[in-house]
Amino acid sequence: MKALVKDSAGPGFALKDVAEPTIRENEVLIRVRRAGVCGTDVHIYEWDAWARGRCKPPFIVGHEFAGEVVQVGALVTDVREGDRVTAEGHIVDGRCLLCRTGNAHVCPYTKIIGVDRDGCFAEYIAMPSTNVWHLDDNISFDVGGIHDPMGNAFHTALSAEIPGATVLVTGCGPIGLFAIGICKAAGASRIIASDINETRLALASRMGAHDVVHPNEAERVVKRHTDGLGVDVVLEMSGVPSAIHQAFALVRVGGHVQMLGIPSKPIEIDFATEVIFKGITIYGVVGRRMYQTWHQMTRFLRSCNFDPTPVITHRFPLDEADEAIHAIKSGEAGKVIFEIA
Ligand code: NAD
Ligand code: ZN
Repeated sequence: MKALVKDSAGPGFALKDVAEPTIRENEVLIRVRRAGVCGTDVHIYEWDAWARGRCKPPFIVGHEFAGEVVQVGALVTDVREGDRVTAEGHIVDGRCLLCRTGNAHVCPYTKIIGVDRDGCFAEYIAMPSTNVWHLDDNISFDVGGIHDPMGNAFHTALSAEIPGATVLVTGCGPIGLFAIGICKAAGASRIIASDINETRLALASRMGAHDVVHPNEAERVVKRHTDGLGVDVVLEMSGVPSAIHQAFALVRVGGHVQMLGIPSKPIEIDFATEVIFKGITIYGVVGRRMYQTWHQMTRFLRSCNFDPTPVITHRFPLDEADEAIHAIKSGEAGKVIFEIA
């Protein structure tokens, strides 16, 4: 089969002909139809310090996908050939303290497809059946293929109290954009979105933000819509240090800061003034809650109040990986996906 492989310790991906995966008794084989490209793939493509420390070539890249089941292992009872599915890409041990207390999203033994084992930028992928998530008939493979980053946004937003809330979203990359649509559907009273990129601010409006602002206007707009208090909830979705400080500055006293964005290096925080005396609650987001986030996502999609499709702006075949990575790096894209079959 065709697959995008990280085949050596250096920049780039190689499109290769590799053997189709064989499945174990508890696994299913999925024919990949759509796969999302994300910042993690860019890190692996560029072979930056994080990728060098984490990944062991050769492996097939990619962790966001949807497709059809073509084969099931002998022990699999709840997935059938022909099922339309996506999957949770974090494979956990299922037996540790975290897994057994409903916190599998922070399982210390997590292996991520396309990072720690073979991923989905390929015609087929083998997945444990426990990780498979069925798609409703009316959910397209496009939307199925972006459940992973959408799930990050659901997890970040819905672990705060959104109904009636004033919300600031710092960073309108694909995940911030999904989060805006989710907050809208969940009944936020005011959604203020900030970014430095005009293309992304335009998408933020399209997803339902009431105000779209450049970071240097955010304080004025937040104060105007919150009687000078600050917002109830900030969703920090940029990972940029100045935006993180702004999140602490513009959340109201006693408010919530939901932190998804990952800074590229350690940053200094004045805990006394930015956190403690403001009495705020900070929530660190890892992946998606298994499987609460997935149920929430499916139900929001069923309600039809949340439509993620405007975020998908670019599509490429698997043999245009360089172009796909370039589209992400240009900042002109929303979500970039591969159309594989
Ligand atoms: P992205 O990099 O496309 O989006 C970040 C956005 O922030 C960009 O649009 C950028 O223009 C904007 N930005 C830059 N400076 C800003 C500022 N000062 N104020 C406001 N916005 C600013 O990324 P994405 O794919 O949407 O992911 C968002 C973040 O979440 C990234 O940091 C990513 O690494 C992280 N992430 C975390 C998890 C997790 O489980 N915690 C999972 C996936 C991604
Ligand atoms: Zn575990």
